Amino acid sequence: MDEKTLNSILFPKLSDAQIAKIEKFAQLKSYRDGEVIIEIGDCDICFFVIKSGKMAIVDRSDGAEKTITFVEEKQFTGDVAHLTGGRAVMSLISQGDCQVYEVAAADLRQILRENSSLSDLILQTFIVRRQYYMEESKDFSGLRVIGSRFSRDTFRIRDFLAKNRRKFTWLDLEEHQQVDALLRQLHISEADTPVVVYGNELVLKNPTTAELVERLGIKNPIQATLYDLAIVGAGPAGLAAAVYGASEGLNTIILEHIAPGGQAGTSSKIENYLGFPTGISGTDLANSAVLQANKFGAQLALNCQVVKLTFEDGIAVLHLGSGEHVTAKCVLIATGVEYKKLNIEGCDRFDGVGIYYAATTTEAQMCRGSQVAVVGGANSAGQAAVFLAEHVEKVWLLIRGEDLSKSMSRYLICRIEQMDNIELLCNTEISQIGGDDCLRSIEVSNHKTGERRSLDVTAVFTFIGAVPRTNWLPQAIKTDDKGFIKTGLAVADSAEWSAGRQPFLLETSRPGIFAAGDVRLGSVKRVASAVGEGSIAVQFIHQYLAEISI
Ligand SMILES: Cc1cc2nc3c(=O)[nH]c(=O)nc-3n(C[C@H](O)[C@H](O)[C@H](O)COP(=O)(O)OP(=O)(O)OC[C@H]3O[C@@H](n4cnc5c(N)ncnc54)[C@H](O)[C@@H]3O)c2cc1C
Repeated sequence: MDEKTLNSILFPKLSDAQIAKIEKFAQLKSYRDGEVIIEIGDCDICFFVIKSGKMAIVDRSDGAEKTITFVEEKQFTGDVAHLTGGRAVMSLISQGDCQVYEVAAADLRQILRENSSLSDLILQTFIVRRQYYMEESKDFSGLRVIGSRFSRDTFRIRDFLAKNRRKFTWLDLEEHQQVDALLRQLHISEADTPVVVYGNELVLKNPTTAELVERLGIKNPIQATLYDLAIVGAGPAGLAAAVYGASEGLNTIILEHIAPGGQAGTSSKIENYLGFPTGISGTDLANSAVLQANKFGAQLALNCQVVKLTFEDGIAVLHLGSGEHVTAKCVLIATGVEYKKLNIEGCDRFDGVGIYYAATTTEAQMCRGSQVAVVGGANSAGQAAVFLAEHVEKVWLLIRGEDLSKSMSRYLICRIEQMDNIELLCNTEISQIGGDDCLRSIEVSNHKTGERRSLDVTAVFTFIGAVPRTNWLPQAIKTDDKGFIKTGLAVADSAEWSAGRQPFLLETSRPGIFAAGDVRLGSVKRVASAVGEGSIAVQFIHQYLAEISI
């Protein structure tokens, strides 16, 4: 694609009629040549449409200042961060005198809600821009993470940045020659790593997740308000509920511990979700859903782990790990499940440095050219095996059962059969894990023949039985003995049920508290069903809100 066509896609011109719609919400501002309108790191950035003159978009991510492009008359600035939150990653500087329409983020949301075709154009442009600068552009380098592949903290930081879709380059201490020079330039030693660097500046030394969230500006403040609906968990179920809740006028907040997307967000390619015949990556699905929920005004709060649920005068109080509280008339629990850890002595020390619970590019980069094992016989394990086979020398797929047909979709089994570098070992379990500073081998045993063998793998990806994330719930929310939440008719006869009516389909044993997705007893563990349940729950939440008088 030539530069002119690319520019017209990344920076389309608005028509006079479209500008007139924006003008109603905008302040007209003038800037002098060289004035900085947005500085890298700024929060709460406004959206600008150029009335006259032009502005330069300037990047300093690889150390030197360079102009990426110019935004000219009738073009607009911005990216998904306007709606989802986050600090500016590039500066905006006036080139000559210029006049702009300046729109605050809340007003931009209203413009998007009220004008369908304008909304399509702006959102589409934001998405393409993000995709282009994240994946294709060589101009913008983003952050640099310097750390060893044998460091659990390096993995944690890379995993966090990837899950939250922040562009970064990883410089492996063990591999990259320029690392020593860069460390000297930053006046830090190897012992200080992992570090996060922007351009020639040290941003953070071995940051905690909370520090990363703060520095990247991706935590939206919690408001002291009574929400109509508080959703716990931003997996497919929670995000679907946020889209429906907010679009139908409910004051909605969604609280997420790690990153939007949940388990689906760790899937390299979801091929059975309706409407995506060529598949869609979990991160793309999650990012689009976040944007959609934000467009309708749902508030997404990341790095918010809900640790307790209590009730005060009939109102639900969600207690966060940070000590903050969120109050709501209704709560939707959509906390999903997490994979069980391997029950092998000493395996904990390899978490993040050889044992992984997801197979994304972040993990695949660690295993290039080596052999890996995938444990599990369900679709998640199958997808991981197929994805990893494209990046590593060989994948050993270990299952306890006789064959894959009981637990894996046919399309994945076919794909596995066609890949020369995936070898399936049935009736097999890991009996030992060996290594020193990193994982170097495993011993597997066949429980039918008793045969034992050693495999020279550098990583084990485990997708065995999942446990619901419900240990933070009070007794009033009834679960089965494994912790899956009971809903609907399953709680109608429970002593905790206090309303003078039957519980709604997705309502828990406490009226007004709902559950959807994988965390719910009897749910189908699929993206489509989680999305379906999240959407249906909103219908019942409306009915519940109509019957209470808070
Ligand atoms: C690797 C992989 C591949 C998969 N592939 C497919 C596929 O191709 N097709 C398909 O249909 N399904 C697939 N699945 C299954 C599908 O992803 C799940 O069924 C779906 O994600 C369940 O959605 P959910 O919203 O119920 O829960 P989850 O996706 O588990 O999301 C729950 C969210 O809640 C958050 N959370 C948990 N506890 C708290 C707390 N206390 N406070 C705040 N937040 C919290 C978590 O961080 C998480 O983001 C796959 C799963 C995996 C792991």
